[in-house]
Amino acid sequence: MSVLVYTENWDGQFKKSTFELVSYASKVAEMMGTAATAVSIGNVGESELQKLGKYGVSKILKVEGEKYNSLDNQVFTDIIARAAEKEGAEAVILSNNNTGKALAPRLSVKLKAALGSAVINLPASVNPFTVHKKVFSGKAFADVVLKTSVKILTLAQNSFEAIEKAGTVSIEVFNPEVGGFATIVKDVQKQTGKILLNDAEIVVSGGRGMKSPDNWGPIEELAGLLGAATACSRPVSDEGWRPHGEHTGQTGKIIAPNLYIAAGISGAIQHIAGVNSSKCIVAINTDKDAPIFEAADYGVVGDALKVLPDFIKAVKEAKAK
Ligand SMILES: Cc1cc2nc3c(=O)[nH]c(=O)nc-3n(C[C@H](O)[C@H](O)[C@H](O)COP(=O)(O)OP(=O)(O)OC[C@H]3O[C@@H](n4cnc5c(N)ncnc54)[C@H](O)[C@@H]3O)c2cc1C
Repeated sequence: MSVLVYTENWDGQFKKSTFELVSYASKVAEMMGTAATAVSIGNVGESELQKLGKYGVSKILKVEGEKYNSLDNQVFTDIIARAAEKEGAEAVILSNNNTGKALAPRLSVKLKAALGSAVINLPASVNPFTVHKKVFSGKAFADVVLKTSVKILTLAQNSFEAIEKAGTVSIEVFNPEVGGFATIVKDVQKQTGKILLNDAEIVVSGGRGMKSPDNWGPIEELAGLLGAATACSRPVSDEGWRPHGEHTGQTGKIIAPNLYIAAGISGAIQHIAGVNSSKCIVAINTDKDAPIFEAADYGVVGDALKVLPDFIKAVKEAKAK
């Protein structure tokens, strides 16, 4: 018996969210009276893999090969399912990011396992296996009992802190025979020179309250100062004020930065659905009753066109110290 955690990598590196996920899996394993094993797919160096050991996994299954450097949902599902069978995993844990959302339902079918998606904390009990999860894009929460012998969980981003733990980790090469690739990635062209919205730790975002595309200077300046990506609400991209790739929400990008600064955004549920996993939300809005303030950790009631320049001045002063 064990708990298996899928540790996604980005060009051979793990992110802070991977260590949070591993810490979570380790705690779930502790509750179940067992140990956590990680499965890593794609080329990741030995020293990077060793980092996982600091967060509570005792074993890593390493699946290597150039062909695994691009995600193929079917193949990755097969590999994780094989790893789960090999380890006798009673729980398989993934991030609730785009990859986890694609793999978890497939694993659930393959392993005939109940799926608890977007869980936000440790199981309330492991017998019966009860998890607390987000529903309706985070507008409500549900307690769900997973009744199958194997359970699949996806952990909502920014909902569990990484916890360092003493211990040793063994690395085992794992080469399961899996079905062929349905798709082959021939070439990947990455945007350069810009912080990608999905990867950004800080995001500065503007809504229709910014009034005009000509007013985006302060959003870009603040983003530049903070090393942040820029984003926007859907009407802003629909109007052509900003590129569609910046639109966050139910029909746009779903992001989970450490800090999300929303200027002139009302906070409609469809927008919040894309940003409510942010660790901290700061809102600037002229309307004190705007729904964004319900989601925000900090709020400024005021004109974004006046508040943003003050914000920029304060950041410059803080940086100069
Ligand atoms: C099926 C569906 C899917 C959708 N998907 C998405 C989605 O993915 N993402 C998304 O964003 N929306 C989405 N929407 C649209 C969503 O419902 C809202 O209409 C949209 O988010 C509102 O954008 P906004 O807050 O920029 O604009 P508005 O609703 O016009 O709000 C502007 C806000 O700015 C404030 N304001 C005005 N002037 C200032 C100022 N000078 N300084 C500071 N604040 C000011 C106002 O008080 C107001 O709160 C979707 C809608 C539907 C029906």
